[in-house]
Amino acid sequence: MTRFTSDLLAADLADLTAIRRDIHRHPETAFEEERTSQIVADKLASWGIEVHRGLAKTGVVGTLKGKRPGQKTIGLRADMDALHLQEKNDFEHASVHANKMHACGHDGHTTMLLGAARQLAATPDFAGTIHFIFQPAEEGEGGARVMIEEGLFDKFPCDVVYGMHNMPGFPAGHFAIRPGPMMAASDTWETRFKGTGGHGALPHRGTDPTLVAAQFITAVQGIIGRNVPATQTAVLSVGHIAAGTFGSPNVIPSEVLVRGTARSYSPDVRTLLERRLGEVAQGIAQAGGCEVDYKFFRRYPPLVNSAEQTRIAVEAAALTVGREHVDAETPPITGAEDFAFMLEKKPGAYIMIGNGGDEEPRGCHHVHTPLYDFNDRILTTGAAYWMNIVQLELGDAA
Ligand SMILES: [Zn+2]
Ligand SMILES: [Zn+2]
Repeated sequence: MTRFTSDLLAADLADLTAIRRDIHRHPETAFEEERTSQIVADKLASWGIEVHRGLAKTGVVGTLKGKRPGQKTIGLRADMDALHLQEKNDFEHASVHANKMHACGHDGHTTMLLGAARQLAATPDFAGTIHFIFQPAEEGEGGARVMIEEGLFDKFPCDVVYGMHNMPGFPAGHFAIRPGPMMAASDTWETRFKGTGGHGALPHRGTDPTLVAAQFITAVQGIIGRNVPATQTAVLSVGHIAAGTFGSPNVIPSEVLVRGTARSYSPDVRTLLERRLGEVAQGIAQAGGCEVDYKFFRRYPPLVNSAEQTRIAVEAAALTVGREHVDAETPPITGAEDFAFMLEKKPGAYIMIGNGGDEEPRGCHHVHTPLYDFNDRILTTGAAYWMNIVQLELGDAA
């Protein structure tokens, strides 16, 4: 077995750095990654990789068959989109677009996968098929979900899928992953309590949705304390309340809107939150003689790594940087990630690669901040990790 490492790919680093910085200079946000996807498609095609475009508008899928026969198919995924943020860096590759910035490192993710694609196309010494999936709109718009809805896995069947994200504050090129739930589901809920309202001096003549809403807000935390198993975790927070008007404190409003967020780490707990919020709202509304309209908006599902692919990811990371630099039991992360949509459909694993800690000039700047930059030193490390994944998934035994 070959140990693909950043040293082995050292000759590619200058090239990959140039690609990464070019993408960084020209950030494009959700579903508008025209220039970026053109670069990706051109590069893939120039290396002899079959290119498909147009899924979720700007999505690109490159397909590469190994030179040895094999039925197994794997999807390797990178995201391409930038954020709506004004960059405050003054280096040469800083964003040339106002209020757009690669502040999450997706420029680096795209480049790492390109780096692997080039190497694998040059030496397709594997058995099976790789689909290189370059997706748009990871940041809040669910580009992965749209690609799936538009037939990603029908057109490009994948037995397993893998994803990767950089992590600032974690040593450059180290890896972190955990089996099972790794990132939270992020959902929004909304309750609209409706009563008659009425004169503030004559509450007995009507029904009061403000009292109902107050009881509901208190009861919501009982769902966490009494319905979610103590060994699991979830968060329910109220973030928006609206009722009445400022000029009419003597009027009992007829409607109170209460909205909030729900975070959970398993499909079961997520479903539990959705159901119990509705039941609690309904019960309290009924007790207060009111009605309630309840909605739960499923946004991003929890990101759940499958055990077997996590094991393979750990092995691939260990081949890349040594087992001592791989944290295989990292704590769950409260953020959400739309690769979770792919992991709902296919077994797979999502790993974090360290972007560097405080010792790095940029490593200490966290994602989604105006001074962030992807660490070019890890480009070849990430590309090597992808190659090790391919070797483990599509090696001789495949
Ligand atoms: Zn982000
Ligand atoms: Zn990101």
